[in-house]
Amino acid sequence: MIDFLIIGGGIAGLSAGARLSEHGSVTVLEAEDALGYHASGRSAALFEEGYGPPSVVALNKASAEFFFSNDYLTPRGLMLLAKSDQADQFRKDLSELGMAEISVADALVRVPVLNPESVAYAALSEGAYDIDTDRMLQDFARTIRANAGSVLTRQKVTRIRKDGNWLVEAAEVFQARTIVNAAGAWADEVARMAGIAPIGITPRRRSMARLPAPGGHDVKNWPMMLGTGETWYAKPDAGKLLVSPSEADPVEPHDAYADDMVLAEGLARYEEMVTSPVTRVETNWAGLRSFAPDGTLVLGPDPSDETFVWSAGQGGYGFQTAPAASRLVADLALGRAPELDAAMVSALSVSRLR
Ligand SMILES: Cc1cc2nc3c(=O)[nH]c(=O)nc-3n(C[C@H](O)[C@H](O)[C@H](O)COP(=O)(O)OP(=O)(O)OC[C@H]3O[C@@H](n4cnc5c(N)ncnc54)[C@H](O)[C@@H]3O)c2cc1C
Repeated sequence: MIDFLIIGGGIAGLSAGARLSEHGSVTVLEAEDALGYHASGRSAALFEEGYGPPSVVALNKASAEFFFSNDYLTPRGLMLLAKSDQADQFRKDLSELGMAEISVADALVRVPVLNPESVAYAALSEGAYDIDTDRMLQDFARTIRANAGSVLTRQKVTRIRKDGNWLVEAAEVFQARTIVNAAGAWADEVARMAGIAPIGITPRRRSMARLPAPGGHDVKNWPMMLGTGETWYAKPDAGKLLVSPSEADPVEPHDAYADDMVLAEGLARYEEMVTSPVTRVETNWAGLRSFAPDGTLVLGPDPSDETFVWSAGQGGYGFQTAPAASRLVADLALGRAPELDAAMVSALSVSRLR
């Protein structure tokens, strides 16, 4: 009998599994051949404490210590850019993200390919970091195994029944006291299988292109660039530049791939702000950011059955919130008082959506 059966081998499932493995037996079931195959293997890997709605920001802040003490972060910086007709949106983003305005000339010193004829406003935050997401996934998986838990791939859950305890059918049949639903875009599907009401998770596609370094520049120390209103972003990645159209198109859960038209339009918005044209896309991909109806995470036991615990709706914040979100999931699953403020716990609860 397993104490905690986790469905989903992305960052949500592995981080919750690692926390819970200190207190009971844990098995993680992942449908794919590899951990982190879906959203968790396709992210932009950024930590920015001010990014997200208030309950996400609370999780970001509560996660910072874990990130720093485990050496998962490398300074990146975030630069907000706007055209002359985007002044209102720029001011809004500036205050929401708590950034400091800088001159276009200063922005050009940091990113020499910016086009001073189109960039009218710029702001900078030094509090944005690259997250070592691969190492996070592997470290959480290692913690589970070190605590005698199992992390199993090629175990797609196809049927869930309850007969006193949970009976979960995948490549094998598992018996568990508690299920943790960390199935990302498939979280509602897993809930339905278990006879639990879905919460209205919407997977939203976000595409990404990898370009050669513009103009042959060394991009290593460039900040991430964000078009105001989150209309595109660009981020250095191993000597190349990732550019995303920042779309949030609702789709059915699936193995996502980039939409060519959306990608081309996003690249055009980026290209408008720089002097170096996009001549070649080396590769592209897409991932699903899965949101609850109010845009924040869903963490904790379902009110209809406390042995069905949600860790879903991570949206575009799954990595930066994972340390605190997994702690909250574990606290609530174990019936312990959460460290997070009660108002935030309630803003992240399943009950708020019922
Ligand atoms: C383009 C892009 C950029 C992003 N940038 C950032 C960023 O900069 N910072 C940040 O913090 N976040 C970012 N995110 C968001 C982050 O990647 C996600 O929030 C996070 O990865 C979600 O993790 P997850 O474990 O919930 O989902 P997933 O990683 O999708 O994991 C869910 C897993 O459940 C498995 N599963 C589903 N159904 C079953 C079943 N029936 N049986 C067994 N297994 C099942 C799936 O195979 C999947 O592997 C970004 C996302 C995208 C797409």
